This record gives sequence, C-alpha cells and structure tokens, in this order.
Amino acid sequence: ATPISIMVATGRGARLGVLVKSGGALQMAERIRTIVFDKTGTLTVGKPSVTDILVVDDQGDEEEILGLAASVEGSSEHPLAQAVVEAARSRGIATHGVESFEALPGKGVRARVQGREIHIGHVAYMKSLDLAGMEKAGGRIRKMAEQGKTPVLMAMDGRLRGIIAIADRIRPETPEVVAALNRRGIEVIMLTGDNKTTAQAIARQAGISQVIAEVLPDSKVAAIRELKQQGKRVAMVGDGINDAPALAGADLGMAMGSGIDVAIESGDIVLMRQGLFGVLTALELSRATMRNIR
Ligand code: ADP
Ligand code: MG
Repeated sequence: ATPISIMVATGRGARLGVLVKSGGALQMAERIRTIVFDKTGTLTVGKPSVTDILVVDDQGDEEEILGLAASVEGSSEHPLAQAVVEAARSRGIATHGVESFEALPGKGVRARVQGREIHIGHVAYMKSLDLAGMEKAGGRIRKMAEQGKTPVLMAMDGRLRGIIAIADRIRPETPEVVAALNRRGIEVIMLTGDNKTTAQAIARQAGISQVIAEVLPDSKVAAIRELKQQGKRVAMVGDGINDAPALAGADLGMAMGSGIDVAIESGDIVLMRQGLFGVLTALELSRATMRNIR
C-alpha cells in the first residue's frame, strides 16, 4: 500500500471512530481469517449485576451473605466484585473492614472479615478448597450457568454459604456482527476465564459456536499462540487487563475504546465509537484500501 492511501484510510477510520495505529495494521486486517473475542466487556456490555442470591445452608440470610461478600469484594477491582459491592450498596447493606485480603487472578478472592475466613470465587476454585456443603449446590449452580449467569460462590470458615448469580447483557450489536463475520467466512471464537456452561450460554446468544473457556489470565496469550501455530492468521478483540498480552500477541489486536488503558495501548486498532461494529468497519477499510492499490 502506498503511504498516501494508508493515510487516507487512517483518516477515514478516525472519522468513523476506528483508530488505526499503523499502516501494517491496516494491511493485516484484510488477511485475518480468525477473530477471537473476549467475553466480558467485549461481546457483553461489561456492566455485570447481581440477579440472584442463594442461601445454601439454612443458616444466615441473603443480607448477611451479600454484606460479607461485598466487604471482601470492596478490595477487588474485578467487574464481578463491583457488581457485588453495588448490590449491597443499593440495598443499604453495611459492609465491614477486612484483614489479609488476597486476590487470586482468574479464580476469586479471600480475606478475613470479623474474625471469619471468607473465600469467594468460581466453582472450580471453590472445589479445589474442599469445602463442606458443595455437593448439595451442584444443581442450582448448573441452572444459573445455563441461563448465562456467572455463579460466584461464597464460603465462610470452610463451608459453602451462599451463591451469588451475576449476569451481563450481550451488546445489542453482537449477534449482527458475528453473523456478518460468518458470512465472510471468518472463523469466530470466544475466549474467556468464565466457566464453560455460562460461556456457552452467552455464545449461543451471540451466534458463536466455538468457545475456549476457563482460561486463566496468563493463558489467554498462549491460546492465541496456539491458534497461530495451527497456521491461522488471528485477530484478538478485547478490553481487559488480561487481554493486553493476547492483543499484543495476535497478528492484529483490536481494543475496545471503553477498555482499560493497557488494553488500548496493546491494540493495533482501537474501536472508539461504534462498539463491535468497529470490527466490521476496520475490515472494510482495510479491504477498500488494499483493493485500490492492486
Ligand atoms: P474474564 O475472562 O471474564 O475477564 P477472569 O479471568 O478475570 O474473567 O476471571 C475468571 C473467573 O474467575 C470469573 O468468571 C469468576 O468466576 C472468577 N473471579 C475472578 N475474580 C473474582 C472476584 N473478584 N470475585 C469473584 N469471582 C472472581
Ligand atoms: Mg473483558
């Protein structure tokens, strides 16, 4: 491509809210055959909220569970943590100070609250802790996940006490964008740290048939590398802290403009205004530019 045609396309992209950082990115976009999407904040709106609170034992009530969970999650920056904190706040439930808080990336959090040991996290992580009371909850956890909700489990002193279901809506444009990519023969894959059942339910709503779930934060980039090793030319679309290495490691990184700074810095293209429609705009821009040149 000539410098002029790339400058023109870059300017047109900027006006459409698609920031192309280099000529190389514009040339690469046309050659992409596989696009990997992060789930939360990329395929979904990224504003998860609490939908259900289940009391597992007959001890305690919803308020107690939400209050303890919000006390711990107040120290976490995870979007799920923010949903828990907001749910407690909007219901006027008091929170307590915490000691020895620890975040376990891709798994959950733990801390001491009012002298009690609290663990919060996903099913696989909580299973690894050998908690009492897990057997009874299996059916209800599965049901939440099948509805596309993320089950967040809370244990107190080694015993499962509550399950908080958290849901996030898919972006209104997601199914349309996925369908358009499918029509172009582009393979679409979801990549997420969330559990398989929840991820598959969201994927179904989005029209995505390929899901890579339960991926630890450090392993997203490895998943991208593996696809590249299969000979695929891969773009990654993401917004979060865990996505930054994968955005950098893909042949083409596309960051959501609503994402965090390190993701935006790691992207070759930044989608500023049109949400996921920006992915289609970027591909079209690239195609038109490369066609003019040949
Ligand atoms: P994603 O790929 O959706 O950004 P993460 O890798 O950050 O997800 O986390 C994966 C899973 O770990 C979450 O879906 C959740 O079940 C669990 N998890 C991580 N951090 C927390 C937290 N602070 N509170 C509750 N659960 C958490
Ligand atoms: Mg995300």
